[in-house]
Amino acid sequence: MPPSTRPTSFPPVTRYRISPARAFAHVTIKAETNLDSKTRRTLEQKLSAIQENERRKLYKRATTIRKNSLPDATSESLDDIVLRLLIDDEATTDAAEAETATGDVTWVGRKTCRLTDIECELNGHRVAVGDIVSYEPDTLRLKSVLPRKSLLSRPDPGNPNIEMPIVANVDIVLIVVSVKSPPLHVRIIDRYLIAIQRSGAQAALCVNKLDLVSADERELELAKLLAYADLDLPIIGCSVDTGEGIDKVRELIEGKTVAFVGHSGVGKSSLTNAVVPGLAEITGTVMKGYGRGKHTTTWSSLHDLGNGTRIIDTPGIRSLGIGNISPEELKWHFPEFEGIRCKFSDCSHTHEPDCGVKAAVGGAIKQARYDTYVRLRSG
Ligand code: GDP
Ligand code: ZN
Repeated sequence: MPPSTRPTSFPPVTRYRISPARAFAHVTIKAETNLDSKTRRTLEQKLSAIQENERRKLYKRATTIRKNSLPDATSESLDDIVLRLLIDDEATTDAAEAETATGDVTWVGRKTCRLTDIECELNGHRVAVGDIVSYEPDTLRLKSVLPRKSLLSRPDPGNPNIEMPIVANVDIVLIVVSVKSPPLHVRIIDRYLIAIQRSGAQAALCVNKLDLVSADERELELAKLLAYADLDLPIIGCSVDTGEGIDKVRELIEGKTVAFVGHSGVGKSSLTNAVVPGLAEITGTVMKGYGRGKHTTTWSSLHDLGNGTRIIDTPGIRSLGIGNISPEELKWHFPEFEGIRCKFSDCSHTHEPDCGVKAAVGGAIKQARYDTYVRLRSG
């Protein structure tokens, strides 16, 4: 299908909610059922593995059951009743677990989060946009956060050892820069890259506004980025104005969850709109639908474009990697330096003698990563 005809088929909001899985058949072994030896052995093992006080409670329940049953109703031993209780309890737990639904987090507030079309209580969980969570459909309380493919986070300004989640499960973060207005500075790319590289997401670079420079200037600008090839960074030159490179961007994000980051004015909105014509209107609809007066601008969005492509756009991601980075925070971003010994314990790895980090450059530490470190270190 030609890309220009795509948007009409994009639903403004896709429902991610998977209907609650039904409980498995409720396993109850009737009192008169004799346990086969294999089941009995498994149950006995389970019984011996549970805690002493829990075991005592089971026996107490079993005693009550025996006391309350008619004299000839059961010939079960106390042990058998306990094993039967164990089976019943497991079945109940299974049923309770099955009464769980999952959804994708599209917005996170202080006490609640939004899963496309419902709002759930966070219930003490720390979640990010893009997280897949399970929740109780009856109470709309979160139960758990499913394992993440990636997590873009930033250190807590008050404590660089604490990560603050920004966006989860992004496959590709596209860093958008422009060759002119605003001009290209590699340090901007460095800031984004360090955050992306430790997230587990793939980074890609989009150099926009190529139409604004001559062929010679283009060469010069692109040469500045050669060092990043070492970091497996796909680099796409493009121009929203001439359409150059747009198909490559489209190809790169096809079937993936993607986030666009970059300074204001580089052309992120124009690019998103060029890649997915009509998205701006769709976004507008979603915003209007969800709008809550002054809160509207704080809504994060996860736009499903069909065919598995999703675009995440949140205020958090817009501020990713921007601002000055303290030496403390730098340490957090370069985990590959950890455990390497230097002569001085407070070595900055820039000018000191016998620096283990510098010695490892070209080996365990990539040159481009070290260069990034030095650039960020010097502010
Ligand atoms: P954002 O802030 O990153 O979302 O940037 P916008 O998409 O709003 O674009 C900022 C300005 O740059 C707008 O005036 C766009 O028309 C312009 N722009 C975007 N892409 C290009 C391009 O490839 N070439 C030129 N010449 N201008 C562009
Ligand atoms: Zn050092």
